[in-house]
Amino acid sequence: MPYPTATPATWFVTGASRGLGLELVRQLLERGENVAATSRSTERLLAGLADVSTENLEPLELDLVDGAAVDSAVARTLERFGSLDVVVNNAGYGYLASVEETSDDDVRQMLDVQVVGAWNVLRAAIPHLRTARSGHIINISSILGLTTLPGWGLYSAGKFALNGMSEALAGEMAEFGVHVSIVEPGYFRTSFLTTGSLVLPAATVDAYPAIREMTRNHFDLQGHQLGDPVKGADAIIGIALAGKGPLNQLLGSDSYQYAQARIAALTADVEDGRALAMTTDHT
Ligand code: NAP
Repeated sequence: MPYPTATPATWFVTGASRGLGLELVRQLLERGENVAATSRSTERLLAGLADVSTENLEPLELDLVDGAAVDSAVARTLERFGSLDVVVNNAGYGYLASVEETSDDDVRQMLDVQVVGAWNVLRAAIPHLRTARSGHIINISSILGLTTLPGWGLYSAGKFALNGMSEALAGEMAEFGVHVSIVEPGYFRTSFLTTGSLVLPAATVDAYPAIREMTRNHFDLQGHQLGDPVKGADAIIGIALAGKGPLNQLLGSDSYQYAQARIAALTADVEDGRALAMTTDHT
């Protein structure tokens, strides 16, 4: 069900101090919506919003992996605004390395942020959306949650996991009138390709010069990405306002092209394996 537009809606947005999250919060505040915004640094979040009224903002400093802190943040949102309409799981970061170079700590941290963190938010928010029988969950994935490339194994592991969970969730929520969207951006001009947002392995192996070259190329791409975060945030607001739309919402012409190539490759692959697949049933 579309969220009510007559009165301010309440949004809960994670990873809000930079990039797409920050732009989304800015546009929501400009529209007069209520916004609970999580960040690891509310100081950075407030500095990013210095030019907009923050009267309707509830800044929440927390670590998304801390389930109790997430529960408190959602409770605080309801206490202050009296409702919860749209939940945006946006926090995420990149990681570029071969599978072999990816450390155990790096794997756990990525899955903590992109899967456990999102799951904590959903576990806290869903009971309110479900009982209200309305609302919208928007999980910010990536085109690399639908397809992948060498060097992006860990990032894609997190985003594919988010996609799988979101797709199951969409089915679970349908009967409660809660809509689920998976947003899959291509390259957007945020901080994503800068040091700190794009994490590299502590130790590299000489056997992967192509991944090193791709890493350099990605840092060089910073500032030249096709995607405009202002338009991206506006599109995300539009998805919630419509209260419907595709489960997989690509953002960006690059994302659309990668998705089409993936669909063609997956179809060809499934057909390649068809003859063998047909041999394993009980007869
Ligand atoms: P960004 O400018 O780097 O912002 C990422 C946000 O995620 C930050 O505000 C940060 O929140 C949060 N974050 C980063 N690392 C984190 C960590 N270790 N723990 C918790 N939170 C962390 O990048 P962005 O482009 O806006 O990214 C937003 C979402 O879009 C991410 O999920 C990203 O994977 C996805 N995406 C981006 C692109 C792109 O090209 N930009 C493409 C596809 C998908 P705080 O610092 O406020 O805590």
